[in-house]
Amino acid sequence: MSTTPLNGRRALVTGGSRGIGAEIVRRLTTDGAAVAFTYAASGANAEKLVAELTADGATVVAIQADAADPAQTSAAVEQAVAELGGLDIVVNNAAVAHIASIDDFPAEQFERLMAINIGGMYWTTRTAIKHLGEGGRIINIGSINADRIPGPGLSVYGMTKGAVASFTRGLARDLGSRGITVNNVQPGPIDTDANPNEGDFAESLKQVTTQGRYGHTTDVASLVSFIAGPESGYITGAHLNVDGGFTV
Ligand code: NDP
Repeated sequence: MSTTPLNGRRALVTGGSRGIGAEIVRRLTTDGAAVAFTYAASGANAEKLVAELTADGATVVAIQADAADPAQTSAAVEQAVAELGGLDIVVNNAAVAHIASIDDFPAEQFERLMAINIGGMYWTTRTAIKHLGEGGRIINIGSINADRIPGPGLSVYGMTKGAVASFTRGLARDLGSRGITVNNVQPGPIDTDANPNEGDFAESLKQVTTQGRYGHTTDVASLVSFIAGPESGYITGAHLNVDGGFTV
């Protein structure tokens, strides 16, 4: 197997400016893909990532697009297709969390989570599938919280990630005959801005894993790259946990 198994492949990663998404962009380019990624607010991070990877010889494009906005989301997919000359791999990664009791969960946060975590995935996918051919890959970044909620306040976030899981199942059926695979990668606690290793909930989350620790963004990116690659064609509709045994 080549050390650049994604040579010639073109990928779009939503929310690629920081955290898990940025590491996926890094890994896909290292493995040979040309990559476009979206971001919402952190233009400086996006520019820095493009500069870093371009200096290494990669083809990488940053696109500002709010995943909560269907028009911006669809336009970002079309821009990625135009700039990369087509599309083979879609990674639906952009998402946000808000932790609050169901009794006083703010209405605007409910709408925001639905619009970004579910709507963003839907509109990205809906626009992208007409460009994907045989061997196409859709990889949704869900969460282990679809399967296990370790404490209070996560019901709405967990609901959005349950939606990621069921959308993955249905889409795998819809697109199987076209040779396109669809999978759901479910991280456990991974050290990012959204869930820092030293954050308020970190110690309790570590205790739920079998190893007593957080995972790294690279743990998720390496699985995504494998699923994006040529050896994973018979893996579809799967829910793949990268969670240090969070559900054991
Ligand atoms: P971060 O908050 O560290 O990064 C989120 C990324 O998504 C950023 O690039 C951000 O862009 C982008 N983003 C956020 N909102 C929007 C929006 N409206 N439009 C476009 N892009 C947006 O999150 P993580 O890296 O931790 O999480 C990545 C994925 O992994 C998510 O799907 C999350 O649910 C999932 N996950 C994470 C876990 C963890 O422990 N970290 C555990 C389980 C699942 P910008 O920089 O512009 O804000």
